[in-house]
Amino acid sequence: MPDVIQLLPDSVANQIAAGEVVQRPASVVKELMENSVDAGSTSIQVAIRDGGKALIQIIDNGCGMSETDARLCFERHATSKIKEANDLFAIQTMGFRGEALASIAAVAEVEMKTRIAKNQLGTSIRISGSEVIEHEAIACPEGTSIAVKNLFFNIPARRKFLKGSSLELKHIISEFQRVALANPAVSFSLSHNGANVYILPQGNIKQRIVHLMGKNLGNHLIDLSTNTSVIKISGFIGKPDSAKKSPGEQFFFVNNRYMKSPYLHKAVMKAYEKLLPPESLPAYFIFFEIDPGAIDVNIHPTKTEIKFEDERMIWQMLNATVKEALGKFAVVPSIDFDTEMVIDVPFFPKSAPVSPPEVEVNPDFNPFDKDYVSRSSYQQANQGHRSAKGWQDLYQQEQGKGFDQQAERVTQSSFAHAEQEPMVPNAAQRFFQVKNRYILTSVKSGLMVIDQKRAHERILYENYLTSLSMGPSSAQQELFPQSIELSAGDFTLLSEQTEGLSALGISISLLGQNTIAVNALPSNIKQANPELLIRSFIDSFKENTSNPAFDAHQKLAASLAKASAIPYNRQLEPIEMQDLVDKLFACQHPNIAPDGKPTISILGIDELDKRFR
Ligand code: ADP
Ligand code: MG
Repeated sequence: MPDVIQLLPDSVANQIAAGEVVQRPASVVKELMENSVDAGSTSIQVAIRDGGKALIQIIDNGCGMSETDARLCFERHATSKIKEANDLFAIQTMGFRGEALASIAAVAEVEMKTRIAKNQLGTSIRISGSEVIEHEAIACPEGTSIAVKNLFFNIPARRKFLKGSSLELKHIISEFQRVALANPAVSFSLSHNGANVYILPQGNIKQRIVHLMGKNLGNHLIDLSTNTSVIKISGFIGKPDSAKKSPGEQFFFVNNRYMKSPYLHKAVMKAYEKLLPPESLPAYFIFFEIDPGAIDVNIHPTKTEIKFEDERMIWQMLNATVKEALGKFAVVPSIDFDTEMVIDVPFFPKSAPVSPPEVEVNPDFNPFDKDYVSRSSYQQANQGHRSAKGWQDLYQQEQGKGFDQQAERVTQSSFAHAEQEPMVPNAAQRFFQVKNRYILTSVKSGLMVIDQKRAHERILYENYLTSLSMGPSSAQQELFPQSIELSAGDFTLLSEQTEGLSALGISISLLGQNTIAVNALPSNIKQANPELLIRSFIDSFKENTSNPAFDAHQKLAASLAKASAIPYNRQLEPIEMQDLVDKLFACQHPNIAPDGKPTISILGIDELDKRFR
């Protein structure tokens, strides 16, 4: 049998290695930024086109490369950072495998210009798919500029798998943030298609956090520090009230390199236990300094996973440090976040005197108040035709029971007008609010419990969907334009939704530098604070992004519905409860909130009977 084994040509070997190092444009940004930091730069500029699919350009003012190094750096295992195997265990710099540039040059068109301080002339090199196309001496500034064009141009299968520009940009922004946070003494900038995303001056870590994440978070940071012989922990954590529903502000760094650690994340979360609303994440920017011999950075090709020698001890120390910081600032649980559907049943000790149940009345209620009368008759007129048959049935058959009920109503003599409309009990009799969260009402089959926020979300959601396909349904209310500073990621997200939002009556202008202004809101939105509205819209939009059940309109409508629905902990007037319930039953799908969770639950008569057996 003839010999069959062949050595792969370098270009193929490089392409294979590139599969590990270069997953998407963001990986290129990370490798090049880290190289620039390693080169001692004090200023690093990143310019991106089309989510990095067309162009990634990085310009630094670091040490530059000699003519020979400029050629050598594109060879595999070419690095100035390791001289012997031992260095692998003591390495402090970020890149150290000498693979990044070779990999990038294997799967893109690369142009590099570089010059070291002592030379008059620099070097320009062009490489395409590992092949050197041009190599010449040119005049250029000290430092290095690298442009990576048409990533994966020679591997169509991989190019096809790249996502839309805005998603690729999102990944780039994450990588950019990680390097920028780890190096506050270096100034950075990031632009996309010519527009500035970030301009970050040199500063300290807190200033860097504020520049990246916005002033809002800056006002909610607590500093953190512990210093032991084994490890030094420092950085900032967010106060519990600044926690968000979606990730994006959680960072660990080890010896100034970003790392992922689901294990240590739990140590932080445990320290915040009971301080956070369910499913929300606190911001944290935590830096560990540890003897490089006690960690293994090489376990993952993209080097974001790091193994500590004694993970459990570090878990304990981190947990204690975060707890201490939270304690120092007297952040104590103040809100009761129980989310379960519990109907409060008062507990009477056997000896307690029994008093007759009381009917809750609204002390402000005045049946002769014109406003009230006109509002309620308007609502009745308006809803007569809108209410779905189901709700009418549910309720009217209950009315049919007649006598008992009427008798009961008459005893509630504080409602004088009940006698004038004997068959239509008023809202105060029909609806009862529990814990400022659930609306209770009696129906044919038992006791109906309605989740006020979810019900309102359903109503708004269907409303918004109609507006999106047929134009806005409610008038706009001009505001004194209020500017809001966002993080770059949130700014990009919002700028892609302005058209849809404007179809819903929310007018926003993009002021640049991650700042927006809210100029008008639809008059039916009750949220008085536009900033809160926009921020919670962004939060729920991010949550909904991963929901495959939503198309673009549904995602927009569901997110805005969530942000603008009446919240929990809001006391509702009987007339408001009536309005809400009527509108809910006029919906196409009254039973579920846009996210599929139930809006209504009925406690059946059977079940009630059982409880009294
Ligand atoms: P590594 O960073 O692991 O050494 P790379 O392939 O990323 O491997 O880079 C190879 C070498 O090229 C580096 O070791 C460094 O000497 C040189 N180099 C890369 N980028 C720059 C830069 N921006 N400025 C100066 N030298 C650089
Ligand atoms: Mg490198």
